[in-house]
Amino acid sequence: MTIPPALTTRHLKEFLLAACFLQGLGAGLERLGSLDGVVPVISYLALLALLSGGLVASAYIRSAPLRWTTALLLSASAFFYYAYEKVTSDFLTYDAFINMLNAASFADDAVSQNLRAILIVGVSALILLAALGMESRHRPRVPAWLLAMAPWLAVCLLALVLFVRGGEGARAQPATFTPLAYLALAAYEATADSGPRHDVALPQHGAIPSRDIVLIIDESISGQYLDINDPAGVPTPLSKAYPGVAIHNYGLAVAINNCSAGSNVTLRFGGTRENYSHIISTMPSIWQYARKAGYRTVYIDAQRTGGAFQNLMNQDERRSIDEFLQFDGVPVQQRDIATAHSLVTHINDGIPQFILINKVGAHFPVHDKFPDAFMRYRPVLPRGHFPPLSDTGDRYGFDGSRQDWVRYRNSYRDTLLWNVGEFFRIVLQGADLAKATLIYTSDHGQNLHERGDGGRNTHCSIDPVPEEGVVPLVVLEGARVRTH
Ligand SMILES: [Zn+2]
Repeated sequence: MTIPPALTTRHLKEFLLAACFLQGLGAGLERLGSLDGVVPVISYLALLALLSGGLVASAYIRSAPLRWTTALLLSASAFFYYAYEKVTSDFLTYDAFINMLNAASFADDAVSQNLRAILIVGVSALILLAALGMESRHRPRVPAWLLAMAPWLAVCLLALVLFVRGGEGARAQPATFTPLAYLALAAYEATADSGPRHDVALPQHGAIPSRDIVLIIDESISGQYLDINDPAGVPTPLSKAYPGVAIHNYGLAVAINNCSAGSNVTLRFGGTRENYSHIISTMPSIWQYARKAGYRTVYIDAQRTGGAFQNLMNQDERRSIDEFLQFDGVPVQQRDIATAHSLVTHINDGIPQFILINKVGAHFPVHDKFPDAFMRYRPVLPRGHFPPLSDTGDRYGFDGSRQDWVRYRNSYRDTLLWNVGEFFRIVLQGADLAKATLIYTSDHGQNLHERGDGGRNTHCSIDPVPEEGVVPLVVLEGARVRTH
């Protein structure tokens, strides 16, 4: 088919705009299909119409410099959104956006790991930039000020919806506005909940602590995959008996969040469903409580290196941590083992300490998280491509087919043999547990698609399956330790 040249040049802008809208058509239809009832459908369509109007209006801003500046901001926002979606095959939620802001120090890694995906979405963003920025032959009969304001009114409207709905409501809306509205909401939350963090108000009374308290937060460990909760589970030392050691298994526990950052920050600051946001931003951290009680505070982070913070930690929180330990130069596969040895040393040193640990655990990719000698469950995912990675959202090379998930679950079990089993073997063999109480749990569970459902996601989904929230909860201590 040949398009008459007059038509293409006269309507190129409109043609490109239509192409940009068509890109979101699939997500829109899927969204409509998922909505139950008339009110949600009408609300979704009304918001979609208003936001789409804001986007189209921005393409007809009269002043060329203003139009191009607006186009640049909107297409940069869309680029960010598309890149996230392409890399994770998931919708960019508000939580995920906040996590990415806080992981900005890893932007280099993310870009280098996902270069191909980022280049592909870069083309879409450039088409949008051209569609919005290029000169139009048409002059809609709308006041110039309204055209200039429309995209920002759209951002405000979406931010308002997000605020009212606790971060929800941007799904399948124009990608251009979502990151900008998230940013507006994040800026509001940062100012609304600012102010000095409280000191610990509880008085310190009773004896000076004589042993360590250790909170081990594993990564992506599904409670039902361990032998302590299922006879067919992966064998661990936690199901065995040791002289002088009491191991209390609390069975399957529920994580407070199905994403790392949300559950970790809530474990460090406390919080309930009703007031977690306020507590996390203004109340004392677990480190402050520990110090007030007379403990030295130790943070062992096996996941990050180079002093980088994660899980919403910041410099202010860091000031309450006496020892901040990461394993720069230790291969990812060896970091939970290094953590176990470090924990043994800390427990045995006789100094009363509160120790919080973020283990490497079993986050995607699990291909190379265990040594060959621990390849008990087979067939496994292809080995050798991911050894330097602690965790990533990139699912490159993993299609999520039924056969892929069989291999994934085997690699996952082999990872548990090593990062949970071998970890506790070293701790139970080396540490004098009369000197410590250990609480073992995970940040969240995993959807390992046992029901044969497709997709590549394991956790952090906006419509989670129960498995994403199921974690182990075990307390280990000396059998003769008396707790009051
Ligand atoms: Zn996690």
